[in-house]
Amino acid sequence: MTKHRANYSLMKLVYFFILSLIFVGCKDAPTVHRIIPMPQSIDYTGNSLKLSKGALFYTNLEGLGKSDLANYLELSPLGLKLAQSASDADVIFDIVPSLPDSLNVGGAYMLSINKNKIEVEAKNSAGLFYAVQSLLQLADIHTNGTIIFPTVEIADAPRFEYRGLHLDVSRHFYPKEFIKKQLDAMARYKLNNFHWHLTDGAGWRLEIEQYPELTSTGAFRPYKTWKEWWTGGRKYCDQNDPNAEGGYYTKEDVKEIVEYARQRHINVIPEIEMPAHSEEVVAIYPQLSCTGKPYTSAEFCIGNEETFEFLENVLSETISMFPSDYIHIGGDEADKRGWAKCKKCQRRMKEEGLKDVDELQSYLIHRIQAFLETKNKQMIGWDEILEGGLAPNAVVMSWRGENGGIEAVKKGHSVIMTPAEFCYFDAYQDAPVSEPEAIGGYLTLDKVYSYNPIPEEVKERGHLIKGVQANTWTEYITTIEHVDHMIYPRLLALAEVAWTDVEKKDWESFREGVLKETVWLQANGYTPFDLNNEIGERKEAQTPVEHLAKSKKVIYNSPYSHHYAAAGDSSLTDGLRGGWSYHDKRWQGFLNTNFDVVVDLEKQTDITSVTAEFLQLSGPYIWLPKDVTISISDDGIKYTELTKIENELPTTYDKYIVVPFGWEGNAKGRYVRYQATSCGIDGGWLFTDEIVIK
Ligand SMILES: [Zn+2]
Repeated sequence: MTKHRANYSLMKLVYFFILSLIFVGCKDAPTVHRIIPMPQSIDYTGNSLKLSKGALFYTNLEGLGKSDLANYLELSPLGLKLAQSASDADVIFDIVPSLPDSLNVGGAYMLSINKNKIEVEAKNSAGLFYAVQSLLQLADIHTNGTIIFPTVEIADAPRFEYRGLHLDVSRHFYPKEFIKKQLDAMARYKLNNFHWHLTDGAGWRLEIEQYPELTSTGAFRPYKTWKEWWTGGRKYCDQNDPNAEGGYYTKEDVKEIVEYARQRHINVIPEIEMPAHSEEVVAIYPQLSCTGKPYTSAEFCIGNEETFEFLENVLSETISMFPSDYIHIGGDEADKRGWAKCKKCQRRMKEEGLKDVDELQSYLIHRIQAFLETKNKQMIGWDEILEGGLAPNAVVMSWRGENGGIEAVKKGHSVIMTPAEFCYFDAYQDAPVSEPEAIGGYLTLDKVYSYNPIPEEVKERGHLIKGVQANTWTEYITTIEHVDHMIYPRLLALAEVAWTDVEKKDWESFREGVLKETVWLQANGYTPFDLNNEIGERKEAQTPVEHLAKSKKVIYNSPYSHHYAAAGDSSLTDGLRGGWSYHDKRWQGFLNTNFDVVVDLEKQTDITSVTAEFLQLSGPYIWLPKDVTISISDDGIKYTELTKIENELPTTYDKYIVVPFGWEGNAKGRYVRYQATSCGIDGGWLFTDEIVIK
């Protein structure tokens, strides 16, 4: 058992002890449900209120706000019905002109439950709606229709105005009803922006009338899964092809989803990818790529005016479907080499005085941003839009760590934090050996929970950080059950990061709340990861290893990658073994090269074993070595081979695995050389964490 867990058990006892103190002497002690996300201020007053399903409520809201609230409440498990006057009602939802200063943001509310009634006050309908969510979580609903609430005083407001969930529906398509189910859960946890990744190389998912081929062909492929598509030639097919897999959302579907979201105070942000991640577009309209040929590129040609005509037409139709002020244009991971070779792109660069391809990408982003401004829309892009100069008023979504966000804030731009390390829900949430295949990484519930979206470095300008978002990329997520499994319960942690002030957060009570909430999720048709079964971090990573090479110098005959340097030159002899994630800064990565290092033990030493472990994880192109050679030397010049080990696990083995390669025996020497041959796949990595010598 880890120290962390031991603490947790102790804290759990303390937590229950405090709760039982609160309700001591109280005859009908109500069940206390921990609200997620935790309100800024919550004071249980020790009594309870009993209502029946179908009790009456009153609101001073008018028009659409009133009918939205009435519909939502009537269909909710509370089944509240609209009363004609306040005096008839057990529950009052009032819009008020002002709230205390600490609640002076959109979505704030005050909720008071006493022995006789429930009163809610907010400045806008979103605030009333969030109070409803707190009520739903507080309610103890019995099968006979009795609903018991604890008496409580809540004053609550969100920490961030933007609280998001992103879902990639390109890599795999998910039906409309499934999207609505996500919106229901978002509402429950007070999230308010659904970022819909509608277009990408693996499939275009949005009906555009001017370009019907985008969906009749671009939304279908003769492969069921992304992996088969990626490795099988990346082709598309007509929707009537007998092997066609995929789908898209019609304008009617979008209308329905946008309206469903609106009723839940959720804004839907469409993402139309440019200038990269557009294989499906340039396969159908090859004239929009630099090569002019299908299946040769993922990027638009920025030198071609027709590209802008296409993008502006698509954006115009998109804007007509989505009332969102924000429009996401992607902007990530462009392979800019094609532009450097293209005559049209080169001409554009000359005419516009652009000094490199970064500035060429920036030219496109600026032009699209200016176009969106004519439509009164604000552009969001991934942090690559900083390269070559950021367009004015663009909002940056920082995903490659926080640096993009920090840079953008320093330039006075608004930022939404989505760093992969804390916010990428495509990573494993538990031991990879026990989980369905994922793209890699290791992002536990407590790691998500630990995130603070305002970096110390830009604390003074924290108001420019509008919020935080979970990103659900779906390359490996082929079923809706698997999507749920990746999103829940991690989204609950993200919701509390987004809503609750840092000093009000509490991991122990949150974890307890999640265990209960998991039962609710399961009962309501979700398939969350069950925290009860959590295995936790890799055993080897939990305690440092003592051995003869610890703190000894390592001579690198082959260089490690700067991107995966771990602790640099000291990494392989620092006594620290890697965890489940290859980017935990303990695993050192070697790209497109063999591994060849020498450990200098400083003096002649008797040794009995030499071992290093390697990782295989095919998603991120990490493979075990083809073979390993271990040798020893007195002078560092003349080596004697101790062993050569052939790896027998094929590169097609696609589960996460860590394999030790080592020698045991008796030998004496000062220098130990460890060589590992790369599997030879272009772009392939070798990852190892420690050379253990005993
Ligand atoms: Zn071009």
